[in-house]
Amino acid sequence: MNSQLLHDPFGRRIDYLRVSVTDRCNFRCVYCMPEEGFPATPKDEHLTTEEFARLVRVAASLGVRKVRFTGGEPLLRKDLPELVAESRRAGVEELSATTNGHLLSALAGPLANAGLTRVNVSLDTLRADRFVEIARRGTLETVLRGIDAALEAGLAPVKVNCVALRGMNDDEAPAFAGWTREKPVHVRFIEVMPMRWNLDEGPALPAVGQGLLQIRQSAGGMLSDADMRRRYVSAAELRRGIEAVWGPLEPADLATNGPARSFRVPGAAGTVGFISQISDDLCAGCNRLRLTHDGFLRPCLMSDGELDLRTPLRRGANDEDLRNLFRHVVAHKPERHHLHEGQRVTGRGMSQIGG
Ligand code: SAM
Repeated sequence: MNSQLLHDPFGRRIDYLRVSVTDRCNFRCVYCMPEEGFPATPKDEHLTTEEFARLVRVAASLGVRKVRFTGGEPLLRKDLPELVAESRRAGVEELSATTNGHLLSALAGPLANAGLTRVNVSLDTLRADRFVEIARRGTLETVLRGIDAALEAGLAPVKVNCVALRGMNDDEAPAFAGWTREKPVHVRFIEVMPMRWNLDEGPALPAVGQGLLQIRQSAGGMLSDADMRRRYVSAAELRRGIEAVWGPLEPADLATNGPARSFRVPGAAGTVGFISQISDDLCAGCNRLRLTHDGFLRPCLMSDGELDLRTPLRRGANDEDLRNLFRHVVAHKPERHHLHEGQRVTGRGMSQIGG
């Protein structure tokens, strides 16, 4: 085993870093952010371009091969093309971004030129009226233009992330599948995750797998536990809905599948996939670390432990010091999440960690 590579205590090789470049977003998706009064991190606590670039270089020296920029909305950071270019120079092989698509028609070209290889665009509905209800900002038309721009810029495969919510968009799975027949996009239905559920509905279970990492205290719940549970739709149910309209789906092999299981409506240009982090256990294949916009490194999306890298970075830590902090976080990566047993993620919301 190459000692410079990152392996966690469960034998998983960690070679993928999600980098959240901001907690700001120009949308207010109902399951992700409150409409008003979001407690945004002060600008001077955000990592600078050079600080992000440095940490990506350190991660690359530990064998990280994949970086995905996320947020908040990563395209709000004007230096995103520069961060992409710096990460490319650091030797990162796969560079992608997750975006709501609002600014993508203008930025797809510059990002592709900087070295971005592909994008995931979040889109929960194909209906303009519902778009207003779910995203609460922006328009469906702008996002669809962004997806076209990404396809034209060669940011392929373009994946479309769709969070299914009962009573809001759960009847649209067949329409999304129908869309992939003509459009070479890869729609992935994501089960809604209990991020920042309401704390006053009962005590959180003891945190798992956090060891020596710091735990952030919650600033309070956002959506109620009951509402998130009521709106949860399983991947199996969505698949049944699609097959009732389009017939049996065929397995599809997508090289960049990640945790999704992908299928194709026979003859379709694109695919549909399911990321069922609630109904399946996807943790065994987890190869990720997450760096937050304010410089905290997390071993797991769904547990609250994290380590401050910003303070040592700003106090002059050398690269080996920083590598040791990465190793420390990897050593505390939990084996799996415990959402099935009622665990709650309370310290930060999804937009503050980076989805
Ligand atoms: N602003 C960008 C975007 O819209 O894609 C990147 C950040 S957003 C937090 C990343 C992804 O997380 C989006 O696809 C969003 O739908 C998803 N997401 C946010 N909250 C979620 C939740 N509670 N459960 C499942 N997915 C969630």
